[in-house]
Amino acid sequence: MNRILVSITSLDEHVNAVAMNPDLYRPQACPHCEYSRLWNHGCYYRKADRSGLGQSLNPVPVLRYLCASCKKTCSRLPACIAPRRWYDWAMQQIVLMLMLTGCCVQGCADFSGRARSTVRRWSGWLTERGELFAFHLRSRFAELGRTPQGEAFWHHLLPDMGLMRVMSWLDRDLIVP
Ligand SMILES: [Zn+2]
Repeated sequence: MNRILVSITSLDEHVNAVAMNPDLYRPQACPHCEYSRLWNHGCYYRKADRSGLGQSLNPVPVLRYLCASCKKTCSRLPACIAPRRWYDWAMQQIVLMLMLTGCCVQGCADFSGRARSTVRRWSGWLTERGELFAFHLRSRFAELGRTPQGEAFWHHLLPDMGLMRVMSWLDRDLIVP
């Protein structure tokens, strides 16, 4: 998909880049029809700043592009904003690590302050797509070939690489998360 812009890892950087260097976000081709001509099409806003620290950056602008051929719109997100998720990668990683170390759903919910349904949804992709994601990561990073299978793979990988980076890499080949 290549929907995630790997180089932008904080909301401060993102807001700055949208104002100063917006072409960073222009996709090379339409994700729907692969036509290469995309017009600027304003932006939409996301409440991406959930830090609760300092002055909020919300609403955070996300640039939008219109395909000159199929007329569908598309956009790219900085690595720090998770596609199709309300919370950022850092919060999701905390919950996943708790699950991987044997914490129950209720325990994860209590510790993270998230609803049990949210915890279940986040851990759902690990159950459903963990092996597929691991396969893609192993083919990209030779050194991962020696890491254990199953949940142990993620237990090893997440603290080392970070969920934001993992998802940014996977996004090149797949729809994440
Ligand atoms: Zn198109």
